[in-house]
Amino acid sequence: MNRRNWLKLTAGGGVGLALGQFVNMGEVQAATAKMKLVGTQEFTTACNLCSCGCGMVCSVREGKLINLEGDPDHVINQGALCSKGASLMETNISSQRLTAPRYRAPGSNTWKEISWDEAFERIANKIKMVRDSTWVATEKEGEDTYPVSRTDAIALLGGAQNTNEEAYLFNKMGRLLGTSYVEHQARL
Ligand code: SF4
Repeated sequence: MNRRNWLKLTAGGGVGLALGQFVNMGEVQAATAKMKLVGTQEFTTACNLCSCGCGMVCSVREGKLINLEGDPDHVINQGALCSKGASLMETNISSQRLTAPRYRAPGSNTWKEISWDEAFERIANKIKMVRDSTWVATEKEGEDTYPVSRTDAIALLGGAQNTNEEAYLFNKMGRLLGTSYVEHQARL
């Protein structure tokens, strides 16, 4: 660094220090953070990257996520997020994010976008077909026959971010389908 640059730098620093005496930097920072969230709606959610289930606050303006940060009121993370959680917004705004279901026909090597209605119908039909074709109504033990009403061909796997209510419905669906293979990612 030459003498001229040194003088410029120290003069600039002096101005900054002088201004700092008149401006409350804490208030400026708080005001800037507030402006960022003007006109937004806040929603709480949970990070979906690991089984800790840290709470997050999402700020949405005109249907677009514009800010995502740790929820200070959440019992698990109390506002903190690890580096994965802190960068979760990238998965929302990524140009590579899939926003519609896709279907690849047997033998084909290309994926075709389909509507949600078509996806739901396909899944429901497949589940019914598998359930019907593998249904075990009764089992014999010795001379006796017992009703068992089950399929061994369907299993359900839940995730760590499912709420208690969702887990309840998930189990209920397993019972209705006739499977006792209901597992959870956090138990693996
Ligand atoms: S923020 Fe980090 S620790 Fe918390 S749930 Fe997400 S990945 Fe797990």
